[in-house]
Amino acid sequence: LSQNRRPIIAGNWKLNPATISEAENLLKLISGNFKNHRTLDGPEIVVFPPFPYLTTAINELDGTGIKVGAQNVGLETKGAFTGEVAASMISSLGASYVMLGHSERRTLYKESDSDINAKVHLCMEQPNLNVILCVGETEEEYESGLLKSVVDLQLKKGLMGLKKEDLKRIVVAYEPVWAIGTGKVATSEQAQSAHIAVRGTLSDLFGVEYANEVKIQYGGSVSPASIDELMQMPDVDGALVGGASLTADSFTRIVDGGT
Ligand code: PGA
Repeated sequence: LSQNRRPIIAGNWKLNPATISEAENLLKLISGNFKNHRTLDGPEIVVFPPFPYLTTAINELDGTGIKVGAQNVGLETKGAFTGEVAASMISSLGASYVMLGHSERRTLYKESDSDINAKVHLCMEQPNLNVILCVGETEEEYESGLLKSVVDLQLKKGLMGLKKEDLKRIVVAYEPVWAIGTGKVATSEQAQSAHIAVRGTLSDLFGVEYANEVKIQYGGSVSPASIDELMQMPDVDGALVGGASLTADSFTRIVDGGT
């Protein structure tokens, strides 16, 4: 990689698996595969299980160097907000990442860019949390040539008001909505050109030095078959993997491809 950015491969488990015992099985397999993995030489690895499995994941993956993150966080810090989860809770468990702005959150749960921005700030108040901010255009927007303007706005609003030192704790995941869960992975050229657009926006917003440092992952139907080509692109710094992160074998092969 031209800028020496350490790759980051993340597994987004979404609402899977259905039970803690299945989660434990998956974690044990992942942990077994990475026991001897030289994580410091290879990519940074993060898994994002559902909230109830976070502690189990942190314990099972202890010693592997694999980090654990939450898929979302609530907008409140404490008090009478039944059913909500606060950033301090995630951080105090020992998780080190929160994923924000995933297209499923934006579409199915109507999260706005300002909600996402507020959540980014709540995570930044916790000393140990990093954020993966997901951005990406729909198929219709892509067809209409709106990729850059959509992603521009999501980045601008999502990262509004962040301090310079906080920006270091942000990873961006470019996930074209049309590629998520569809098996329709973007070509490596499409990914590269979108990543250049993302980096260009970040350069306009925060300067060229930051734009060269920030990691940009690609997400959307990444599999062991597509990872190598994607990772050869100079501006693709890793992957956010959904479906293929749910079996230890395919997740491991993707991480190895990301080395
Ligand atoms: P997918 O999901 O790999 O199953 O397409 C990616 C994501 O939603 O982060």
